[in-house]
Amino acid sequence: MEFEGKVALVTGAGSGIGKATALRLAAGGARVGVLSLATSEVEATTAEIAANGGTALGLTADVADEAAMEAAVAQLASAYGRIDILVANAGINGVWAPIDDLTPQEWDTTIRVNLRGTYLTLHFAVPHLKRSGGGSIVIVSSINGSRTFSTAGATAYSATKAAQVAIAQQLAVELGRQGIRVNAVLPGSIATSIGASTVRRNADSVRFPVEFPEGTIPLSRESTGKSEDVADVIAFLASNAARHVTGMPVYVDGGQSLV
Ligand code: NAD
Repeated sequence: MEFEGKVALVTGAGSGIGKATALRLAAGGARVGVLSLATSEVEATTAEIAANGGTALGLTADVADEAAMEAAVAQLASAYGRIDILVANAGINGVWAPIDDLTPQEWDTTIRVNLRGTYLTLHFAVPHLKRSGGGSIVIVSSINGSRTFSTAGATAYSATKAAQVAIAQQLAVELGRQGIRVNAVLPGSIATSIGASTVRRNADSVRFPVEFPEGTIPLSRESTGKSEDVADVIAFLASNAARHVTGMPVYVDGGQSLV
C-alpha cells in the first residue's frame, strides 16, 4: 500500500475535507492522527477508519492553542514512533462582513484559527518529519486566497488563505534539503459543513456558498465539488508519486477559478 509504514497527522479531520483525507490516507495504509476541535467528531472519524480496517489515533485539540497542539503532536509521535505526513487543514470561514463593519475581534478569530493554527501545527510537527528523514506537508488553502469570485466580506478569510500559500512556498525552500516537500491545495467550492458556522453580516453580495449557476464550474454540472475530490489530490501530494513536486499551489476546483 502506498502509505505503508507512514504516520500522518490531519487537522480538522472531524468533517469535510479533513475527514475525507484521514479516511483516504488510512485506506492507503497510513496510521493517522485524527485531530479536531470536537471529541465527538474525532471519535466518529477514528471509528470509521477502524471499521474500514485502518489505524487511527483520536486527538482533540484547538489548533490555535499552543499547549494543546504541543501535547497532541507529542501524543501521536509517542504512539506511532514517527510522523511523515502532515495535512494542515483545520480552518473556519469566520465572519464575512464589509471591512468597515468587521470588528477587530472577528478579524482576530479568523487569523487565530487559520493562521496561528497552521503555524502551530507546522511548528510542533516539522521536527518529527525531520527526524523521519523527510516527508510531505500539505496546507489546505483556497482559491479564495489567490483570486476573488464576486465575494464581499471575506477579507480576513482571504488574507489567511493567501498567507497559507506563502507559507507553503517559503517552507518548500527552507525544508527542501531535508527531504520535506510542502505544497498547498486550493479547493474551489466543496460541499462541507463549513458554511454552517459562517456568519455573514451586511454582506449581501457574498455569493459563497450560494449555489453557482449551472456551468460555472467547467468540469461539473453541480455547483460544488466533493471532499473526496480534494482528499485524492492531497493523497497524491503526500505520496511518493509527487516526489519532485514542492512549493506548488495546486487548484482543486473543477476549473472554477478559470471562469
Ligand atoms: P468543515 O467545517 O467541514 O471542517 C473543518 C474541520 O476543522 C471541522 O472538523 C472542525 O471541527 C475543525 N476545526 C475548526 N476549527 C478548529 C480548531 N480551532 N481546531 C481544530 N479543529 C478545528 O470545513 P471544510 O470545508 O472541510 O474545511 C477544511 C479546510 O478547507 C479549511 O481550511 C477551509 O478553509 C478549506 N476550504 C474549504 C472550501 C469549501 O468550499 N468547503 C473551499 C476552499 C477551502
